[in-house]
Amino acid sequence: MNIATHPWAAVFFVGFVIYIAIRGRYARPTRGLERTHRQVDSLEKALLAVVIPSGLLLPVLYLFTPLLWFADYRLPAFVPPLGAVVMVLAIWLFWRSHADLGLNWSATLEVRKDHQLVTGGVYRRIRHPMYASIFLFSATQAMLLPNWLAGFSALVPFTILYLIRVRREEQMMCNIFGDEYRAYMQRTGRLLPRWKVTKEA
Ligand code: SAH
Repeated sequence: MNIATHPWAAVFFVGFVIYIAIRGRYARPTRGLERTHRQVDSLEKALLAVVIPSGLLLPVLYLFTPLLWFADYRLPAFVPPLGAVVMVLAIWLFWRSHADLGLNWSATLEVRKDHQLVTGGVYRRIRHPMYASIFLFSATQAMLLPNWLAGFSALVPFTILYLIRVRREEQMMCNIFGDEYRAYMQRTGRLLPRWKVTKEA
């Protein structure tokens, strides 16, 4: 599989660049903001140290060098076009969740000075739209890159990070925002929207 000869690999690369550009655009203004609470232990650091290089480096190695081609396999023809559709949704959700979270975004478990609890926009019915988007994008990677290493290099480590992080993040948010976050948990789903909206008093 080569980016020059395989259009689906090129489609993946375009989406990948857009995804990174969105992160860069919204992460930049948060740099240097004061943090009031930080919950980054060695497990969280170790997870980030695997997820980021594996998610970013392996696809690039795969697209621009032949090093990983030994692990190629064949995907059914309908899978890559489906992957491209899922990718559009993943990019939209990544953009919207960054836009809605604004300066409250952080790559890790921390809370900033003047941190606001965001419950609107794509956060209205889902508590973790950004993680939902990363799952969708990671699945897209597996659907567009038919390679055991590059295809799954985001999905597998991110699933582990998510499973370990999500409870800790919600616990941290409960500690900081108390009943406001607990009520928010009641009316939202973690990754999938909760439509049965409980009436607010
Ligand atoms: N889990 C969220 C946010 C990911 S960024 C998502 O998937 O969309 C991680 C940081 O965002 C956390 O450390 C926390 O500080 C912050 N955060 C998470 N949910 C939030 C919310 N509803 N409002 C404000 N900040 C939030």
